Amino acid sequence: MSLPVPVVWNEDCLRHEPGGEVWLGVRDEGTEVPARAVVLRDALAAAGAPVVPARPHGDEIVRTVHDPELVDHLAGIWRDWEQAGLPAEYGRDRVVPYVFPTPGMLAGLPPRSPPAVHGRAGLFCYDTMTLVGPGSWAAIRGAVDAALTAADLVSSGARLAYALCRPPGHHVTRSAYGGSCYLNNAAIAAQALRAAGARRVAIVDVDAHHGNGTQMIFYERSDVWYGSLHVDPGAGWFPHYAGYAAERGRGDGEGSNRNLPLAPGTADDGWLAAVNALCGEAHALAPDAVVVSLGLDAAAADPESPLCVTEAGYRAAGRLAGALGPAVLIQEGGYDLASLGGLAVAALSGAAEGAGLDTSS
Ligand SMILES: [Zn+2]
Repeated sequence: MSLPVPVVWNEDCLRHEPGGEVWLGVRDEGTEVPARAVVLRDALAAAGAPVVPARPHGDEIVRTVHDPELVDHLAGIWRDWEQAGLPAEYGRDRVVPYVFPTPGMLAGLPPRSPPAVHGRAGLFCYDTMTLVGPGSWAAIRGAVDAALTAADLVSSGARLAYALCRPPGHHVTRSAYGGSCYLNNAAIAAQALRAAGARRVAIVDVDAHHGNGTQMIFYERSDVWYGSLHVDPGAGWFPHYAGYAAERGRGDGEGSNRNLPLAPGTADDGWLAAVNALCGEAHALAPDAVVVSLGLDAAAADPESPLCVTEAGYRAAGRLAGALGPAVLIQEGGYDLASLGGLAVAALSGAAEGAGLDTSS
């Protein structure tokens, strides 16, 4: 058996050491750790998938998808934090914002970029659990290069390509990051596919959490459809403020957004019924290319979600998504180091089967 899906790998993705997360006022260890990427790469390579290096790409697509000020902020915030002496003199070893300029706070005042870095840290961030450290920018940008390389492979004829992106990306909107995500790898891949000639792209997001960032980036567009199944944010799960069934898009994007919130405890049957429904809607649009936000955190053993999906479930989901058309698979969440590798192999094997690739050699 082999796994004929190229795995795009970037060593820089290991350089992001979030150093935990501040959750409900306490700094916990966190689960978005470099070992995730190593486990995924090693399991996929052992299953026979070719590992190919990410190629460097320019910023054009990134700055189309995201507010260029967000990109510049992420590129420079650690340097500014360090230069202000926060790590050395005050023991603040990661960028953690403490003030957030919400619309309610500003009430129409003009937006400002405060000169003090500790004031500015919350300008483009919406939570306290998405920390920035010395190697973060290299990894963030490295994950983008992995996504763009996978998109290149599919645009030039590959039926499937998988980008081993870390940190993940689907919680990042046009101008705000959070949820352990910094730049939206899946949205960037979708935009790259559009730029390479795909007239319509469908994004299928199977991560356990709603991809609020991807939803909002394409919310008013009809050329990129977004569909997600995820644990119901109304049941107390991140991202809390988005991911409800009534969110269907706006303006030109009206009808191009589909959310299928699931009850905590949902297992293979209910989860796969939702995957099947989303893939059916995507198929009806006859997309020229597909992006799969492949979160593996819907698995039963995952510490970050209450969904109960098995390896067999991920394999079946892979089959459904892989059958839709040329597809870029983007790694999103997935945090149980013991089961992560097997889940990824199952999902990619299913995708290869769905795409009709030869897995026998
Ligand atoms: Zn997730």
